[in-house]
Amino acid sequence: MVDRMTETGKERAVMVTGGAGFIGANLVRHLLAAGHRVLNVDALTYAGNRASLAGLEGEGNHEFVQADITDEAAMRGLFERFRPQWVIHLAAESHVDRSILGPMKFVRSNIVGTAVLLQEALGYWRGLDEAASRDFRWVQVSTDEVFGSLGENGKFDEGSAYDPRSPYAASKAAGDHLVRAWWHTYGFPALITNCSNNHGPFQHPEKLIPTVITHALRGLPIPVYGNGTNTRDWLHVQDHCDALLRVAEAGTPGKTYLIGGGNEWRNLDLVRGICRWLRELLPDEGDFSRLITFVEDRPGHDFRYAVDPTNIRRELGWTPKRDPEAAFRETVRWYVENRNWWG
Ligand code: NAD
Repeated sequence: MVDRMTETGKERAVMVTGGAGFIGANLVRHLLAAGHRVLNVDALTYAGNRASLAGLEGEGNHEFVQADITDEAAMRGLFERFRPQWVIHLAAESHVDRSILGPMKFVRSNIVGTAVLLQEALGYWRGLDEAASRDFRWVQVSTDEVFGSLGENGKFDEGSAYDPRSPYAASKAAGDHLVRAWWHTYGFPALITNCSNNHGPFQHPEKLIPTVITHALRGLPIPVYGNGTNTRDWLHVQDHCDALLRVAEAGTPGKTYLIGGGNEWRNLDLVRGICRWLRELLPDEGDFSRLITFVEDRPGHDFRYAVDPTNIRRELGWTPKRDPEAAFRETVRWYVENRNWWG
């Protein structure tokens, strides 16, 4: 939950794309709790889930529209009718493994979709009066994967060069480049955020943490790529949502903000940790780590990601509120208690 009013105390009309996905469903709740009005635009691909919006359907400040961001006419109609003050753009194909098997969907949604939405947003923004045009914000929700892979040391920061390796990362990088071009060319007030790996409620069971938990609960092998030394920097999704709100409220248009938890885990250590936290909740079910099974590594698997969040801390006063291990336990508990959602 958001425990403070927005900086300006002002209600905003916020268009969220991809709001039936993992981060989107959490962000919509975060925005509503902060007193904003939300138009939630989502195509409901295999990754979108109306059940993640349970309890919000009758909520007066939340409207859900099933639409594809590549549909120009639909997007134009939504801008004209809803008249957003902020756009927070999350809609994307998001699973690296799927991007390796079928990259064209990623090109379509993450590049063409972003371009269509930007173009419709630009037309709408240009028609606003001076005050509304000055206040308008586009927040591009991107990933640290656009920067490629790190070795044992170092962290990504705002000066890191783009060097995407997977089709997913390349498609997100292309979207970011388009956003930056709209800022430089048209003065369109956009900000970019690149966040590290998120965990929390409503994440599709194909992603690492839900896979580990749901396989363990079903007694299935828990797959670990390669030798499990690949390292990721983890952040609870609510801390990410909090950062996105800070960026929309107080960030400087044209700027990029890196968001990360300073919470690095080797995959194998994290998987073992999840098995431990699960056992604390379900002591009668034995040691889940017996299910850990090493599988062939992902092609081109980036070794390590880590983010230096100094800039967003200094400029916007954002830091994660949750203790990293308590946040993981909270996530594990959510999947244990919400079998209906993932089952
Ligand atoms: P997700 O796959 O759970 O959700 C994506 C949502 O977008 C789904 O609801 C889907 O239906 C919708 N969507 C996809 N294509 C669409 C289209 N063409 N038109 C309209 N809706 C469409 O993804 P997520 O993990 O919630 O990630 C959301 C955003 O955050 C993505 O842009 C992702 O790149 C970025 N991101 C994710 C993480 C992470 O750890 N999950 C970290 C950093 C950044």
